[in-house]
Amino acid sequence: MSEEFIESSWAQPDEPFEVPLRPQSLDEFVGQEQVRKRLEVSISAAKGRGEALGHCLFSGPPGLGKTTLAYIMAKSMRTQLFVTSGPAIEKAGDLAGLLTNLKKGDILFIDEIHRLSKLAEEYLYSAMEDFSLDLMIDSGPNARSVQVKLNPFTLVGATTRSGLLSAPMRSRFLINLRLDYYDAATLSSILLRSSSILKTTLHPDAAIEIAQRSRGTPRIANNLLRWVRDYTETHKKKSIDLMTSREALEMLSIDELGLDEMDKKILNVIIEHHKGGPVGLTNLAAAVGEEPHTLEEVYEPYLILQGFIKRTPRGREATGLAYQHLKKRI
Ligand code: ADP
Repeated sequence: MSEEFIESSWAQPDEPFEVPLRPQSLDEFVGQEQVRKRLEVSISAAKGRGEALGHCLFSGPPGLGKTTLAYIMAKSMRTQLFVTSGPAIEKAGDLAGLLTNLKKGDILFIDEIHRLSKLAEEYLYSAMEDFSLDLMIDSGPNARSVQVKLNPFTLVGATTRSGLLSAPMRSRFLINLRLDYYDAATLSSILLRSSSILKTTLHPDAAIEIAQRSRGTPRIANNLLRWVRDYTETHKKKSIDLMTSREALEMLSIDELGLDEMDKKILNVIIEHHKGGPVGLTNLAAAVGEEPHTLEEVYEPYLILQGFIKRTPRGREATGLAYQHLKKRI
């Protein structure tokens, strides 16, 4: 997974623990109705024809289920999934190695596809369109290109920044799906499912409480659930009730809307150091000690969704709601 998420505590990649919680089929995948329906149709049609699935692009903030859907697609198609990411493919040769290994119908998942190098991206065009690869052999006067045939495969790309994807790349995806933040009711059913897998009893009102503080993101919801479970166990309680979940979440300084220390720091910098803004992204990132792209991809989308900041051509501005929420005077 990408290094830009590592800094943000509750948006951290969670692979070592997550595997058992990851839904294994579309039936287990909760929410995102439109996305699920589109995939169901495409999968059953491709299976009926005995063909590889069309190339598919998932976009949306981190932790909403893009990787999970790629796993589910491979499982439903009974093919293998190979996982890599844009920044991990440094040379065109890395990509050639991956592509030539794929068998018919296999799925290559490229996370953060917007961060692929230009050269790798151009290699992908013919691979996606004609299932062939033009490889350069030797250099200097002996340089020549050979065409390698590939097995029909499916490329699944995931991006947190679909706007950064080039138009030729985007147009090569047959299926283009956007994942949105989940509402609290959907997140609470994800939490109830997770709690039964984790063999812990979660009261429905506690599930809602955790869901409301999860920034619309299943990954964060599951991470918070694990924390609340640990807290409950150390306090020798048998089940997770509303009181205990509130106490546990208070310890993390996550407020009732899911804002954590970093979100509050961002809002405070805009309000206190810049009189509410506008303030440029680079300035803001330096002031809170975070990478600009982490700020843009991980923190801002939720703050914008909640109506706390606005992106303007001159920079970021705090809204009246942000002042209200932080109990500051305009
Ligand atoms: P992304 O690739 O978008 O960053 P992931 O697919 O890795 O997100 O999802 C993170 C975790 O959140 C998964 O391991 C899974 O446990 C959980 N999750 C995501 N979407 C769902 C969903 N719709 N239903 C249940 N759990 C989900």
